[in-house]
Amino acid sequence: MYLILSVELINQQIMTKITVAKGDGIGPEIMDATLKILQAAGAKLEIEPIEIGEKVYLDGHKSGIAPESWESLRRTKVFLKAPITTPQGGGFKSLNVTTRKTLGLYANVRPCKSYHPYVATKHPVMDVVIIRENEEDLYAGIEHQQTDEVTQCLKLITKPGTEKIIRFAFEYAKAYGRKKVACFTKDNIMKLTDGLFHKMFDEIAKEYPEFESEHWIVDIGAAKLADTPENFDLIVMPNLYGDILSDVAAQITGSVGLGGSANIGAEYAMFEAIHGSAPKRAGQDLANPSGLLLGAIQMLVYINQPKVAERVHNAWLKTLEDGVHTYDLYKENVSKEKVGTSGFADAVISRLGQRPQKLEAVHYDEGLNHQVQGSYSKAVPAKKDLVGVDIFLHWNGEDRDPNVLGEILSKITSGPFKNNLITNRGVKVYPDGLPETFCTDHWRCRFTSENMDLPGDYKNVIALSQRISDLGLDIIKTENLCRFDGERAFSLGQGQ
Ligand code: NAD
Repeated sequence: MYLILSVELINQQIMTKITVAKGDGIGPEIMDATLKILQAAGAKLEIEPIEIGEKVYLDGHKSGIAPESWESLRRTKVFLKAPITTPQGGGFKSLNVTTRKTLGLYANVRPCKSYHPYVATKHPVMDVVIIRENEEDLYAGIEHQQTDEVTQCLKLITKPGTEKIIRFAFEYAKAYGRKKVACFTKDNIMKLTDGLFHKMFDEIAKEYPEFESEHWIVDIGAAKLADTPENFDLIVMPNLYGDILSDVAAQITGSVGLGGSANIGAEYAMFEAIHGSAPKRAGQDLANPSGLLLGAIQMLVYINQPKVAERVHNAWLKTLEDGVHTYDLYKENVSKEKVGTSGFADAVISRLGQRPQKLEAVHYDEGLNHQVQGSYSKAVPAKKDLVGVDIFLHWNGEDRDPNVLGEILSKITSGPFKNNLITNRGVKVYPDGLPETFCTDHWRCRFTSENMDLPGDYKNVIALSQRISDLGLDIIKTENLCRFDGERAFSLGQGQ
């Protein structure tokens, strides 16, 4: 009796609490299939269910999650999440973005591998991990309509955010035996934001000389990834490029339904499929549960149940290899049996303990994922000089002739600052603009000293703003122009 109790106690002790949400659309079906497989494989999980998604949104919670559900996440710190449907319009916020940012899940890990010849793909040799920065970039969610014609979304790239994700990428490469780390940015255009990402990649890569490292401009990098994915191993990217290209990469392995993802933070983690709730496929026992299952396998590694992860992953590979496929993978002459969501789960369960014969079997070490974190150090404050200001105006006057606006602003000065540039959508239109340039009602008016080198004072910015406003002009916003340790820290206008 005593012995049985002790064993039970030990079993209870090694149970890991996780929060589980079944989501919307195909979510409940693929989650049931995934949990059935995990349970059959002997995963030690104590599940706390929460509700998220459409119903919660429509109950009035703008982020798709009720306040009490955060309590469960705070307790378990591990979230296995099925996809949800975000209602259109109505000011609803994306639950995924909210969860990632609230819980500090800065790293999104998306392995994309092909399973040739058992899953039809144009890319028989493909095994790429995409590591997507998860909290910043255009997903900061700071958007404004500024004029009748112009809307704006702020792209934020921070030093700590960039340092964390790039270190995470190299640490992940180390833990998982990857050889080559690539970085995609668009720093030929966005020299400050993507430029920071690229620069930090080059700096941090020097600390990991054992890896081949390379940078690609995202457009040609994406084209190469879609064309010859076998040339890539691990790619780290800012948020938006990573979001788009991980879907492309998952789809070209054979189906977006094969993509699983881990969202990792310093304290919390969330695991999911990369696809959405596919409402058209819901309730028909059709969907492929593989994406969520592969997310759950990453979760098992993360909570230090690597042997269960290995058992499930190898049984899943054997199922694919045996040609047991859901509709999205099924191909005459390649597949042997077409199954639904639950049939696929049963097929995996019946192969637990088996390993694939032709596809490469997986092996997971103890403590693997806990090694993988990205560290950062606080930036050392630089000497910061204010050398000017961009004052943005909503102006519709005089046929939108930039020379008229330039003439008005030429009379306004403060300290060393006077107007010496007006741009429209970033292109110089005053002085000496070209008449062909199309102008909207949104004007960036730059006030600096002649050579942009004389420092002024914020009082000069206030005085300029006051005088411009007194003339009845509509100021949308101001943006300070600074030098950090003597280096210009703002972009020039096109044609400046
Ligand atoms: P989707 O990924 O849900 O589906 C696109 C298509 O991909 C489907 O029609 C289907 O043909 C295929 N597909 C996706 N998952 C599959 C699976 N498991 N098995 C087989 N085929 C699969 O994209 P969508 O239709 O653009 O979005 C539907 C909803 O999902 C939207 O409300 C969107 O906001 C939401 N969404 C949620 C998440 C998330 O919760 N993580 C992510 C993306 C989209």
